[in-house]
Amino acid sequence: MPRQGAEDRHHDGPATWADPVTHVERLPARPGVTTEWPTWVPAQLREVLAARGVPAPWQHQAHVAELARSGRHVVVATGTGSGKSLAYLLPALSLLLVDPRATVLYLAPTKALAADQFGTIAGLGLDGIRPACYDGDTPRAERSWIRQHARFVLTNPDMLHRGILPGHGAWSSFLRHLSYVVVDECHSYRGVFGSHVAHVLRRLRRQSERHQRISPASRTGGTGPSSRTGRPGTTRGRTTGPTFLLASATSGAPEQAARQLTGLPVDAVTEDTAPRGAVTFALWEPPLLPGARADAEDLTPVRRSALRESADLLADAVAAGVRTLAFVRSRRGAEVVASAARKALDEAVPGLGDRVAAYRAGFLAEDRRALERSLAAGDLLGLATTNALELGVDLVGLDAVLICGYPGTRASLWQQAGRAGRAGREALAVLVARDDPLDTYLVHHPEAVFGRPVEATVLDPTNPYVLGPQLCCAAAEGALTPADLELFGGAAVKETLDELVAAGLLRRRPSGWYWTPVQRPDVDLRGEGGTPISVVESATGRLLGTVDAGSSHFLVHSGAVYLHQGVSYVVDELDLDGACALVHAEEPDWSTHAREVTSLSVLSVRQYQDAGPVGLFVGDVDVTSQVVSYQRRRIGSGEVLDTRPLDLPARQLQTVAVWFTVSPAALAAAGIDPADVPGALHAAEHAAIGLLPLIATCDRWDIGGLSTASHADTEAPTVFVYDGHPGGAGFAERAYQAARTWLGATRDLVAGCGCAAGCPSCVQSPKCGNGNNPLGKADAVRVLDVVLANLPAASADAPVDAG
Ligand SMILES: [Zn+2]
Ligand SMILES: [Zn+2]
Repeated sequence: MPRQGAEDRHHDGPATWADPVTHVERLPARPGVTTEWPTWVPAQLREVLAARGVPAPWQHQAHVAELARSGRHVVVATGTGSGKSLAYLLPALSLLLVDPRATVLYLAPTKALAADQFGTIAGLGLDGIRPACYDGDTPRAERSWIRQHARFVLTNPDMLHRGILPGHGAWSSFLRHLSYVVVDECHSYRGVFGSHVAHVLRRLRRQSERHQRISPASRTGGTGPSSRTGRPGTTRGRTTGPTFLLASATSGAPEQAARQLTGLPVDAVTEDTAPRGAVTFALWEPPLLPGARADAEDLTPVRRSALRESADLLADAVAAGVRTLAFVRSRRGAEVVASAARKALDEAVPGLGDRVAAYRAGFLAEDRRALERSLAAGDLLGLATTNALELGVDLVGLDAVLICGYPGTRASLWQQAGRAGRAGREALAVLVARDDPLDTYLVHHPEAVFGRPVEATVLDPTNPYVLGPQLCCAAAEGALTPADLELFGGAAVKETLDELVAAGLLRRRPSGWYWTPVQRPDVDLRGEGGTPISVVESATGRLLGTVDAGSSHFLVHSGAVYLHQGVSYVVDELDLDGACALVHAEEPDWSTHAREVTSLSVLSVRQYQDAGPVGLFVGDVDVTSQVVSYQRRRIGSGEVLDTRPLDLPARQLQTVAVWFTVSPAALAAAGIDPADVPGALHAAEHAAIGLLPLIATCDRWDIGGLSTASHADTEAPTVFVYDGHPGGAGFAERAYQAARTWLGATRDLVAGCGCAAGCPSCVQSPKCGNGNNPLGKADAVRVLDVVLANLPAASADAPVDAG
């Protein structure tokens, strides 16, 4: 398919095609290893599974089930399609079948995944399990029945946080008998979101233990002082909380991440004994455009775009009857790929384009279900999606996976690629590089893709921006006692509680810490804060989808062109108070690009290295940014039509940054003219942001930067790179520790890029607030050479994969 695809495309003018395939890796097939059913699995369950084509478990499934059955908390971290679901369902369903009072809580990071698992469990038709989804889509009328009668409740951390735990009194019976908590796709709980979820799980442990202690007589009185008669726990004789069963994609040190997430000792099962089909994995770099010219003042592309390339590959695959999933980084990108592929197919065979669609997380539930069904049925052959689908939605039988742009981590890359070939057939995976520093680096360094272990999941439950609000939530659910401190993190908790008392949010009494305000604390787990923005068609009132608050200023500002399912809309008005964007259908021949201004002040320095003319720092900073205008650019040529002002509020971010300074004298000695220093620093900043994901589990959209020839706080030419999340998520700290590796790779990338004066593969940035101006590519190499020559080697080289 790939070679044929390349030859079929002539519409970009005379061929100057270099071979776009930079590397091919063949991943061999692997046979599976089965074992006997554990003896405690009820015959009814074995028969039901056998009837559904599961005559025996894979060895790792039985291993996980045995550990959980014996009361050990366990995480299973194996590849996509290795049957993690059965591993946790075996102990959970077995218990529900033999103990009529026991209950199980299942958590998925998305509603779609929970709904999918619900379908699987309900489809087993087991007596008395009473599974139910409990999330934002659950009708009010059903909720009370679920609280009282459901025994296998499927939900998400947000609903647990906002609905179930605050209303724990109504869940008393469920919580009292809670035996297993399944945390599916637990690797997705990373960064700030993961740190919040870690506390939500501790709150769950606390409430479940409390309700187990409360005697039936005092239960109706809520969580006040109980007679503490206690109850013996379930038939397994436990007297404390539920057993945790976690499922993760392949990741580094899963037991450590699971322990951070739950606060409990967790055993890991990582040996994958499921069979796997052979996969051919190609790295693909789109060709340079004929006659392309790089110019720092506009964003004229130098390479064919990864979106166009992926759209063509998708169209070729669908035309050949190959069932293909294309993963695209952005929701816009997924829609662009789908609509370009549809158009190409319709030109070849009218109507064929209908077999391609786009899918993303913001879609409404019914849209998502319909797309999932038609891909499963084979009516759809090609689906372009954001990583919403990465999270476990059960699509099998894919012949090919196109990954349009590196997904940010090797863990995600393998999870996406793992959707190919799971039916045991030969399959193809292709990573199509974007015009971006990290992607370019990776397709030319296959050892960085195939030769390294996947990253560990990074989270930090001690982040004060997470701990404080979560302690408020916990206190609002029942006063915190000294005995609770250990659960939420020990010494740091006491300090934070004192601050919350001083701020008037909690009140200290002899019996503990009490939440004082009338309203419950309003805490958003997803870290970004704010209500998602609803995108509404003005004329019809139809809700098209939602955009998260964090990206709304960029994506749906007044005048923005917004794509939904390949249909183009123009935003009439972004109403921030009403949390909605009003749009009308229109297909202008321009695209829109928001521009942002940013300022930064240093609050404190945590660590630094003084290296002569160079300084390296990590510390706390205050960042103010505001989307101030947008450009309209002609589609195709990229020509700037005009720049229009916007009136949006500034946004404040207190976070952690890494920064380096270089003395003006050292820059001059390196041959950089003082007038060129801003462009040199700006180019180095962009490339450094682009390569930070090489050393930390983040992507460039999690990170911001600022460079200046003279900063008021450092009094020197400075490049700042900061975490885009309040309080930081560990990325800047990681960059500081691995600065030599990070900046060395940055220097090599910029110096090695084949462009003349800078391009998106090296120093241009798609999210630059200054329209990529000024940028000095050659001078950026000189700046980085000065930094690397002076940084002591000792600062170096915390191993690249440690975090
Ligand atoms: Zn370049
Ligand atoms: Zn910039």
